[in-house]
Amino acid sequence: PSPTTADIGVIGMGVMGSRLARNLARHGHAVGIYNVTTAKTQAVLDEHGDEGTFVPAAELADFVASLTRPRVVLIMVVAGPITDEVIGNVKEFLEPGDIIIDGGNSLYTDTIRREKELREDGLLFVGAGVSGGAEGALHGPSIMPGCSDEAYGRVGPMLESIAAKADDGEACCTHISTDGSGHYVKMVHNGIEYADMQLIAEAYSLLRGALELEPAALAEVFRAWNTTELESYLIEITAEVLDQVDAETGKPLVDVILDQAGQKGTGRWTVQDALDLGVPVTGIAEATFARALSSSVPQREAGQELAALAEAWQVDDADAVTEDVRKALYASKVVAYSQGFDQIYAAAVEYDWQIDLAAVAKIWREGCIIRAAFLDEIAAAYAGAAKRTGNQAADLHGAAEANDAKVSRDGAGTTNEASVDDESAAGEHSGTSTPGARTEDAEGSSGGENPVPLLLAARHFREAVEECIPALRRVVAQAALAGVPVPAFAASLAYYDGVRAKRLPAALIQGQRDFFGSHTYARIDKPGMFHTQWAEDG
Ligand code: NAP
Repeated sequence: PSPTTADIGVIGMGVMGSRLARNLARHGHAVGIYNVTTAKTQAVLDEHGDEGTFVPAAELADFVASLTRPRVVLIMVVAGPITDEVIGNVKEFLEPGDIIIDGGNSLYTDTIRREKELREDGLLFVGAGVSGGAEGALHGPSIMPGCSDEAYGRVGPMLESIAAKADDGEACCTHISTDGSGHYVKMVHNGIEYADMQLIAEAYSLLRGALELEPAALAEVFRAWNTTELESYLIEITAEVLDQVDAETGKPLVDVILDQAGQKGTGRWTVQDALDLGVPVTGIAEATFARALSSSVPQREAGQELAALAEAWQVDDADAVTEDVRKALYASKVVAYSQGFDQIYAAAVEYDWQIDLAAVAKIWREGCIIRAAFLDEIAAAYAGAAKRTGNQAADLHGAAEANDAKVSRDGAGTTNEASVDDESAAGEHSGTSTPGARTEDAEGSSGGENPVPLLLAARHFREAVEECIPALRRVVAQAALAGVPVPAFAASLAYYDGVRAKRLPAALIQGQRDFFGSHTYARIDKPGMFHTQWAEDG
């Protein structure tokens, strides 16, 4: 058996696990390593054994025996049933007080379940979202751990030591909240990533068509954009991808790659949960559907019969069009982040998580795939609002949390006070209610409100986006005329116009619902719910 020397053990020497283990070792932690296929453990040792202290084990029992007590085990394997299997296997060798960290992309409801089950065995469970891909895992990922205070107190310093560091030195790792909160935040992170990637792809497609530029020339455009407020990892790598030449054909690689986007599920989960919560994350949804459309092969084949009936975009001033598309991208990107943060807020209300939204923005500044310069501004928007609502926060959550933007179930404030006596109507009503309304009832509606109900309306972003809206309108209009699909740009503009509208045609929908289903409606001039004796009734 191995000596009892490792500070932490990592199960899974795949792409992520091996690199996280090396990152831990490089930061002075002695790391127990185990993989179901022993050759992979040996490979890490052979190729990187000089990077720090590794304690390899071929058997799970020896692996656990190599860890100092109370033990910390980080599992980095395929999400889903395999993670359950691995937890079940390692649990047999653990003792009360030991900690299991799941760093995979687990569905947050699985994390909630696992935490509960393991708590019954006296084990502490941390569901940690990890972003940054292979490079991030090795050099500093963004880490989103959800767990008890006790668990974070023990594993937080170690996770913070290997996380990316922002320019101000802060670690890109923060205690999100309890149980599934870390994986939830990671899920929404990935959803925003989908939106961001789709928006960039739409910008590329528009410019390529309108300006008739080759990918290498467009790489220069994105490189230039990366020196503006669009500065971000995804813009940076877009330039790299566009610059790549296929070694075999000599063509731009992007022209050789099959145009069917894959997905592993986190974008879909984000949208599914947003539907349940009633949060309009239209940017993420369109991005997810755009991937689905790209992979809808029979439909796309049949679609070749459809006429475009479009007019080519006549560009007089290429620089002006490029700048319009850049501004359209920026505005749409802010919309996507605004929607994503709304979803995290609504989930915090739903699941009783205390999530500091400013801290979430801060840990996304480095290490993760959606790292972007403007996350500093997002953090500032949430932090500033928390200060302004300090007293209210104190009332709601106690003085200890008065200075941050943590949210809780009390913050919902969404339900309509009016009583609806028809039960089916009441059910329908809650189904179309405002964000955070999934299980809200009168009891949950007391208390305060989201200090930043709309990131888009926070001063910095309102002003920055207003600057870009005329460009977004021109771009969406031109794309429509030219027959170029821009679902995420168009949805972002529609959201902007929808959320700023004084009155929406939802009034007509309420009328229709009352007409065919007696679903009742609220009025603008008096409280209560009302039903009209429509002509059809009589
Ligand atoms: P990977 O390279 O495919 O590695 C998967 C690991 O799971 C391997 O160590 C594999 O061992 C192990 N495994 C598979 N079946 C197993 C079983 N039945 N019992 C025990 N172990 C088993 O995957 P990865 O990219 O490292 O991803 C690991 C986790 O991190 C996933 O949840 C993923 O979603 C998440 N994640 C990935 C990224 C990324 O960019 N790749 C980023 C963030 C999060 P063998 O090789 O011996 O089968």
